[in-house]
Amino acid sequence: MDHRQAEALILEEAELQPSQQGALSEHLANCAACRQFAAGWQEVERLLGRLTLDAPRPGFTARWRARMEAQRRAAQQRQLSLLIALLSLGTSMLFVPLLLQFFVILLAGNDLAVDALKGALEWFGWISFLLQVILQASESLARAVPVAWWVALVSGLGALGGLWLWLLGRWAPSLQREGMA
Ligand SMILES: [Zn+2]
Repeated sequence: MDHRQAEALILEEAELQPSQQGALSEHLANCAACRQFAAGWQEVERLLGRLTLDAPRPGFTARWRARMEAQRRAAQQRQLSLLIALLSLGTSMLFVPLLLQFFVILLAGNDLAVDALKGALEWFGWISFLLQVILQASESLARAVPVAWWVALVSGLGALGGLWLWLLGRWAPSLQREGMA
């Protein structure tokens, strides 16, 4: 047996056949270098065993998991806040011009009020023009597209609206709590 073979046997100590064990012992008796190697390996194994004993204290995993869960929830909440903010912004974009016109009417003198009223009417005109375009487009589309698709589209939009309301109802209170905290 040469040094290389002896080292290989030392490293797989646990699974040695009796004949291999005997040959290794014989080599170790005559070879200081391999005895040193075996001693070094034993030290490594002892340290590995101590590492295993120094396993995390009980509760560490649970605390770590709880922290991850809290971080995950915070991230989720941030995403939802962003979503709600974007949806609210989108809704306000539609109504802010109208509200502004009403404020102008309330605050301004008569001349300005007339102008504002004109502006509001123009805005309504623009909206109704937009609605007409949408209606015409959907009419021509309705002839081309099967009814089932429209049903699917309308139910999809309804579901989205419901989801939005549900999100608002569910998250608005907790967001308020966060704001007060
Ligand atoms: Zn040797």
